Amino acid sequence: MSWVNIADLSVAFGELPVLSRVGLAIPRGDIVAVLGPSGCGKTTLLRAIAGLVPIADGEVRVGDRLLSGGKVRVAPERRGIGWVPQDAALFPHLTVAENIAFGLRGPAWRSPEARAARVTELAGLVGLADHVKRTPAQLSGGQAQRVALARALAPRPDLVLLDEPFSALDPMLRVPLRREVADVLRDQRSTALLVTHDQQEALSLADHVAVMMGGRVLQWGTPAEVYRRPATPWVARFVGDTV
Ligand code: ADP
Repeated sequence: MSWVNIADLSVAFGELPVLSRVGLAIPRGDIVAVLGPSGCGKTTLLRAIAGLVPIADGEVRVGDRLLSGGKVRVAPERRGIGWVPQDAALFPHLTVAENIAFGLRGPAWRSPEARAARVTELAGLVGLADHVKRTPAQLSGGQAQRVALARALAPRPDLVLLDEPFSALDPMLRVPLRREVADVLRDQRSTALLVTHDQQEALSLADHVAVMMGGRVLQWGTPAEVYRRPATPWVARFVGDTV
């Protein structure tokens, strides 16, 4: 049984269908790249999984919990989902340590020692052990993105969603950072869905790739499968753009 199960998920904005019967079955601990051109519905898919947009039809399940489907719509903050936005979106008045600690709520994190230990662990993991007292204004773009990742992972979410996490960064920084991010996700055994329009990024860091176009998933497979046996001529052209 897969860990994340999305079945027949449809979303429309008014009359405009944006996602049409999207299905994904994601094993636990998998890093999945959602790859497709601008406007194909990638961000809307993440937002629907996070409970930030209403769904017209279908289901979202994570672990043994139904999060969306039928009459059920679990509130975003109760989904156990971490979110890494495009632009880090750190709290400017909080330090790095306070930003990372922000999501540590609930019974598991009541002890100040447990909270402090988790913050130290995450700050070390993203290479910012020496920066915990800084504020976001004192960080580079890449460092800010690493804090956003640490903040999302701190409470051990069941699923982490990353929306084009490298797109605002200098191209020179992107390649090393995406490797670091993949390493941190694997270290934490996180199940992750990462949206990108960058073929190379998807192929280099994901366990599986979901290729989207026009609100549909055209192909699901490992990077090698998608690259070597594209499902359609369009996928071949789109994925082939990378070389
Ligand atoms: P991607 O992330 O692949 O670039 P999006 O999910 O952002 O695509 O958008 C998919 C489509 O849905 C686009 O045509 C976009 O214009 C439309 N769309 C996205 N959000 C809204 C919204 N809040 N209201 C109306 N249309 C939207």
